Amino acid sequence: MSQSQRIPFNRPYMTGNELRYIEKAHADGRLAGDGDFTHLCREMLESYTGTRAALLTHSCTAALEMTALLTNVQQGDEVVMPSFTFVSTANAFVMRGAIPVFVDIRPDTLNMDETLINDALTEKTKAIVPVHYAGVPCEMDVICSIAHENNVYVIEDAAQGVGSTYKGAALGAIGDFGAYSFHETKNIISGEGGALLVNREHFILPAEMIREKGTNRAQFFRGEIDKYTWQSIGSSFLPGELTAAFLLAQLEAVQDITDRRVDLWRQYHQALLPLEASGQLRRPVIPMHTSHNGHMYYVVLDHRYDRAKVIAHLDGAGIHAVFHYVPLHLSPAGQRFCRQHSTLNNTEQLANQLLRLPLWLGMTSADIERIASALTVALRA
Ligand SMILES: *Cc1c(COP(=O)(O)O)cnc(C)c1O
Repeated sequence: MSQSQRIPFNRPYMTGNELRYIEKAHADGRLAGDGDFTHLCREMLESYTGTRAALLTHSCTAALEMTALLTNVQQGDEVVMPSFTFVSTANAFVMRGAIPVFVDIRPDTLNMDETLINDALTEKTKAIVPVHYAGVPCEMDVICSIAHENNVYVIEDAAQGVGSTYKGAALGAIGDFGAYSFHETKNIISGEGGALLVNREHFILPAEMIREKGTNRAQFFRGEIDKYTWQSIGSSFLPGELTAAFLLAQLEAVQDITDRRVDLWRQYHQALLPLEASGQLRRPVIPMHTSHNGHMYYVVLDHRYDRAKVIAHLDGAGIHAVFHYVPLHLSPAGQRFCRQHSTLNNTEQLANQLLRLPLWLGMTSADIERIASALTVALRA
């Protein structure tokens, strides 16, 4: 790659089998949801994660909305989560009239600070929603034991967590529910797409119904009943077979994709060590008892730097770097619908200094060296 070529922030990776599978779905003439490809994806996800049931959805957002329905979240209920997350984590519950209650994040992993959760619980708390930021696991043992003692649900926003583990368990398969995203920007993709992992047996049938317009059609397809009828509230949360066909090709490659992403991640980590040693930035921290999926490489710039200038400098060098999130408590809807339990100083400071670097399959070691050099120059300027 020549120096003048731009390095985009993301480029979706395709295995080469996607079109072959879509062609088969096309030839079979079965295009609605819950056909052969959806079943194959479900089986692969179940054996890969150990969850009881993996139901494909249109998105992680849809999977989170399903959890709000499944746990019967009501007007005025509270759901404890970080403010440092994507809007859907909160929006799925606000749609049911619930109030997201924000706790601050840990400065090391940027995950919800588990030591702040207990204090944030009230009589109205219905669930804790840990978000595994950058595919790096939250402290699930602590979170699950707090939830157990207080009789509240744990709903993992594992949108970024496909392929990561906490003490050997797949993210998304640890709490009561887990939500995966297969959006184009994630590790495993189908354009738009997601899955709800149902980790409690008694929620499987209700989840299948909510996903199928409130009917027991899934049982009908399995031949367990002779007609299907309206049973509960629900919506249409299931993707069609073309999406599932695409996804199957990706899921078959999940280990390869994860390994290759982690390899790129490690190259960044090595290349940026000197900038951390000189106090110019901080690299990501991966807790000992976890494995991560190389979803994202970010750095936290020292507070002396103006991030916009660093991004502009990288842009001038042909490198597209980005930032996120605008903390939800600072957003217009967040101020209207949510409340914060404690000060959110880490959230605000880290969100201001976080810089995300390009990471996609097809990048070369030379690309990473070029980005590391450009960043070194940018932080000298
Ligand atoms: C991407 C993402 C989502 C939303 O995923 P969709 O599949 O686009 O709905 C939710 N939460 C987090 C943390 C995400 O990164």
